[in-house]
Amino acid sequence: MIYLDNNATTRVAPEVLAAMQPYLSDFFGNPSSAHALGREMKRAVENSREHVANLIGAAKPDEIVFTSCGSESDNWAIRGVLATQPNKKHIITTLVEHEAVQNLCRLLEGEGYEVTWLGVDQNGELDLDALRAALRRDTALVSIMLANNETGVLFPIQEVGRIVREESEAVFHVDGVQAVAKIPIDLKNTAVDLFALSGHKLHAPQGIGALYVRQGLSLPSFIVGGGQEQGRRAGTSAVPNIVGLGAACRLALEDNNHERIERLRNRLEDRILKTIPNARLNGIADRAKRLPNTSNISFEYVDGQSILMHLDEAGICVSTGSACHSSTHESSPTLRAMNVPYTAAQGSIRFSLSRYNTDEDVETTLKVLPGIIAKLAAMSPYQDELTAVRR
Ligand code: PLP
Repeated sequence: MIYLDNNATTRVAPEVLAAMQPYLSDFFGNPSSAHALGREMKRAVENSREHVANLIGAAKPDEIVFTSCGSESDNWAIRGVLATQPNKKHIITTLVEHEAVQNLCRLLEGEGYEVTWLGVDQNGELDLDALRAALRRDTALVSIMLANNETGVLFPIQEVGRIVREESEAVFHVDGVQAVAKIPIDLKNTAVDLFALSGHKLHAPQGIGALYVRQGLSLPSFIVGGGQEQGRRAGTSAVPNIVGLGAACRLALEDNNHERIERLRNRLEDRILKTIPNARLNGIADRAKRLPNTSNISFEYVDGQSILMHLDEAGICVSTGSACHSSTHESSPTLRAMNVPYTAAQGSIRFSLSRYNTDEDVETTLKVLPGIIAKLAAMSPYQDELTAVRR
């Protein structure tokens, strides 16, 4: 199997599994227990907190709170900020956020909040003047992602943070789920108040996430119960997963060879765009403004779900940029916000690589893909348009 779907989830690194194993057998205690076994568990949790803090450049390990996933971190950040400022009813976010942010903000609209939805241009880039214009005295929260999960386009959170800090009193939350371990992050030198991350995107297991909460900011607990995580998130700590996340963060710092992944991604992207006539890139062409592992490519006038299935038959895993709703294909909100035409959006494929991909994976994909596209193009109802793009 060739796995090119690493923005969906990643395989657990062998080093991570090895670090977790003792905590799935002999070390089974509760970190809240006062005895020796409990103390060992607590030590492991605090050790992991340090590794997470190091990877994202937090000023102190205490700024990291463990959660169950990226979605929980996003939900807690947003609801938490709003709860602390009951008189402010305005939120700013973007049209290309992950569902964890977008669907919550839609729900909040129904609860009486006003949301400004910032758009993007056809490259997927944010208009910072639109952000400036949207900031108000009653803006409680600005929630903007660092890296888009579909296109890999990066938002300039350094600059966004500066604008939010200088021109408002709003709290700035960043969904960093797709960016962590893929690009360097240094939160202590960025005006970010809250930052969500998720273990399964960086070779830790599923079911573990974290929220960075800048020192001095206090959020009401999202899950109410015991006093775990210094009273900030109740529930017995998932120690094996926490240890896994810590090990994955340490590994990401030690083995941060993003250039190798980028080189593979570039080869895949360049060859596809060069050799397949109806292929077009979604997201800014300037690779410095995109994640090093992601390529979102539309095969115009061809059905993306069919491409996915043919690749799957060939043992290659990818994602599409359209969701299947019975008989219709709905383009993803991100591609719609970028004004990608329907006939391109419905043929979009996301290739997302990881440290475990090889030259051979890329070469095999490049060998298999043109035949699949040619076969599907021959069945497409858009023959005139396909002839035009081939010219
Ligand atoms: N935010 C972004 C940008 C994501 O890509 C994802 C997952 O795909 C999430 C949030 C949600 O993370 P989790 O799957 O851990 O809930």
